[in-house]
Amino acid sequence: MRLVSDRGWVVFDTYVDNDVSAFTGGRARPEFARLLADIEAGRIGAVVVYHQDRLTRRPGEFEQFVEACQRNGVDQLVTVTSDISFGNDNGMLVARITAAVAANESARKRARILRKIEQNVAAGKPNGGANRPFGYEDDKVTVRESEAAIIRTVADRFVQGESLRSLVAWLQAEGVPTPGRAEAWRTTSLRNVLVSGRIAGLREHRGVVAGEAVWEPIISREQRERILAVFASRKRSGRRTPQRYLLSGLLRCGKCGGRLFSAARQTPQGKVERRYVCQSGPDHGGCGKLTISAVPVETWLTEAALYRLDTPEVTAALEGKHEADARHADAVAMLDAAQRRLTDVAEMFAAGDISKAEYLAARPVAEAKAAEAARVLESLATKDTLGSLVGNGTIIRERWDTYSLDRQHAIIRAILPSATIAAGSPGRGNFDPERVQPHWAA
Ligand SMILES: [Zn+2]
Repeated sequence: MRLVSDRGWVVFDTYVDNDVSAFTGGRARPEFARLLADIEAGRIGAVVVYHQDRLTRRPGEFEQFVEACQRNGVDQLVTVTSDISFGNDNGMLVARITAAVAANESARKRARILRKIEQNVAAGKPNGGANRPFGYEDDKVTVRESEAAIIRTVADRFVQGESLRSLVAWLQAEGVPTPGRAEAWRTTSLRNVLVSGRIAGLREHRGVVAGEAVWEPIISREQRERILAVFASRKRSGRRTPQRYLLSGLLRCGKCGGRLFSAARQTPQGKVERRYVCQSGPDHGGCGKLTISAVPVETWLTEAALYRLDTPEVTAALEGKHEADARHADAVAMLDAAQRRLTDVAEMFAAGDISKAEYLAARPVAEAKAAEAARVLESLATKDTLGSLVGNGTIIRERWDTYSLDRQHAIIRAILPSATIAAGSPGRGNFDPERVQPHWAA
């Protein structure tokens, strides 16, 4: 502190607002406040700062500082580049101009950054920022094929009904590098990748799609809509509990039509036997009079489902898919239009082109349209899921044992939404396939 010793002064105290930019709007600067308090208390004769804009870049704060100095006879503000004497009018003028320039400069800087972001958004270009988006190279535009393949696989499996948790476990097991600087994959980081418009070649700004991006899409717009529909339906139906048994939720009681629940019991020999049972009681409401041993029915229905995938019946059933595709395109267009309308009216209201009443009247109409489109997309998602499985029964069977329970369940549910289990004949201990009535999706 030669600035101080050269003048024969003594340092009373130092004031450092760490990590707080001098022009950060609104944030408290405790040390600046303490400096003002010490000036007001008459403890200080002069103030030394590295540069005036380190003192403050906010004109209001600077005036506060000047007034405190004038009230308490502090007439010296010393910086590395200048001595400002509050004692004469010129010194005060210089200080005020410096403060104003500093304030303007930071405002200009902010405006420049915002303008750049807006230009980037309009041009569909990526923003700056250190983190490379998963699936893209450092330029944020070129697709990194190794990661793009993973995104497509994960998107397919998610749409087929596999849970985020199960997919995260798979990513970890495969040693897939994490996005950004994260140490490990989390359901939230995977969710962020899946819901981002980026992977569908869309430029987003503050979470809203702003238009087409300059980079190549990794998944199609349709796939993105399916992903969003799945998230929307899971949100509506609450958090999905992990599958405990392969056929949980798929089996119905042949006596009462109630749902069968998974349950284990100890056999007289001391072994644990897994079973599906109809349960009576307030929480379940079944007749409580039907059970079936889990392993044989699981084996049998898995074989039946995988076999079914490769049969001409399923292929024929999916012929009607062209019609579904057209409905899908319509729904996507409708959703697009509704979302654009919502943005438009919000902007018109913000710009003062329409009144608040008009704005409030326009919103529900567009929101209802968006909700309707989302419902259509959701109902079509099931059919799409099946489309990606059909004809692949043999391949799936070969890999079956390497799949997680969650994934196995998702595949079976796509082709076999439910099956009814008839009552067993008394005395027949062995599994009887005649008891199983599958209800195929196609
Ligand atoms: Zn029952």
